[in-house]
Amino acid sequence: MPLTRSDIVAARDIIRGVADATPMVPSPFMSSRLGTEFLLKLEIAQPIGAFKLRGAYNAIMALPDGSRGVTCCSTGNHGRGVAYAAAKRGLKAVICMSELVPQAKVEGIRALGADVHISGSSQDDAQAECLRLVEREGLVEIPPFDDLKVIAGQGTIGLEMMEARPDLDEILVPLSGGGLAAGVAFAAKSFDPDVRVIGISMDRGAAMFASVTAGHPVEVEEVPSLADSLGGGIGNANKYSFSLCRKYLDDIVVVTEEQIRDAMQVLFYEDRMVGEGASVVGIAAYLAGLLPEPAGPVGTIVTGRNLDMRQFQRIMAGQDVMLGDYTLKGRSYDP
Ligand SMILES: *Cc1c(COP(=O)(O)O)cnc(C)c1O
Repeated sequence: MPLTRSDIVAARDIIRGVADATPMVPSPFMSSRLGTEFLLKLEIAQPIGAFKLRGAYNAIMALPDGSRGVTCCSTGNHGRGVAYAAAKRGLKAVICMSELVPQAKVEGIRALGADVHISGSSQDDAQAECLRLVEREGLVEIPPFDDLKVIAGQGTIGLEMMEARPDLDEILVPLSGGGLAAGVAFAAKSFDPDVRVIGISMDRGAAMFASVTAGHPVEVEEVPSLADSLGGGIGNANKYSFSLCRKYLDDIVVVTEEQIRDAMQVLFYEDRMVGEGASVVGIAAYLAGLLPEPAGPVGTIVTGRNLDMRQFQRIMAGQDVMLGDYTLKGRSYDP
C-alpha cells in the first residue's frame, strides 16, 4: 500500500497554521429531511475558499531546497492552492488553465501572486502547457489529485471529521480526479473500517465514475457544468487515485445540473452559506433521494465557495443559466 495512516498524520502537522482545521456544523434543514444528523464540513472556510490548499501545501513543503518554482494545471481551486502555498514557501508559481475556467477564478489566482497561462479549451491542453514548463523551465509540477503528498494532504479532512465525530456512519465526498475521495476514504477507514464513504460527481462528464465502472481509466467529454470544479479526466496513466477510489469508495453516484442547482439553493436559503456547485453534490444526492436511508449521522464536505457571483445570483433568483449550449431552467426556491 503506497499510502499509510502516518502519511496523513504527518501531513496534518505540516499544514497546521496554513490550511485551517475547519469546523463541521449541523444542517438543521437536511437533518430534518433525513431524520438523522446531517453535518457540513466547511472547507469553504479555508484561506483560499477551498480544501485544495491542504494537498498543495503538503506537496510543496516536501520539495527540496533550491527548487526553481512550481506549476500545475487546474480548473481553479488547485491553482489557488498551489499559488497560495508557493507564496508561503517563497517559490514562483505558474498556473495553467483552459478557457472553460470562469474569469473569477483566474483573477483570484493572479491576486495570489502567481502567473496564469491560459491554453486551449480542455484540461488536456492546459496539461500540455504545464509539461512544457516542466521540461523547458525546470518547474516542478504539483499534480491536482494523482500524487501521494496531495492525497495525504486532502486526507487530513477525513481525520478531522472522524476525530470530531467518531459516530459518523457515512461521508459524502465530491469526486473528480479522486485525490480528495482517496485521501478521505483511506483516512476515515483507518479510523473506523465500517464508515461508508461515497463519492459523488455530476452526470455531465463524471470521469472517475466512468473509469471505476469500466475497470480502467477512461476519457469522458468535458462540458460546462455548475460543478465546474469536478470537470476533467483522471489521466490514462493514473497511478494512485483511481486504484484508491476503486478500493476504498463504497459507492459512486452522479447528480444532474438541476439537482445541483436545488442543493445550492438549500445551502444558501436554509444554511445561509455560499457553495460552488461542486461543493453541494452530497446535499444534492440526498435531496434527490439517490441514496438509501443512512443508519447514523452523515457528513458531507462543502469543498469550495469560489464561484462566479453573477451566475450564483441568477440561480438564487430562480433565473435560467446557460451551461454551454444547455439551458438550465430557473427554479424559485421552495422548500
Ligand atoms: C478539486 C475539487 C473537488 C474534487 O477533488 P478531486 O480530488 O479532484 O476529486 C471537489 N470540490 C471542489 C470545490 C474542488 O475544487
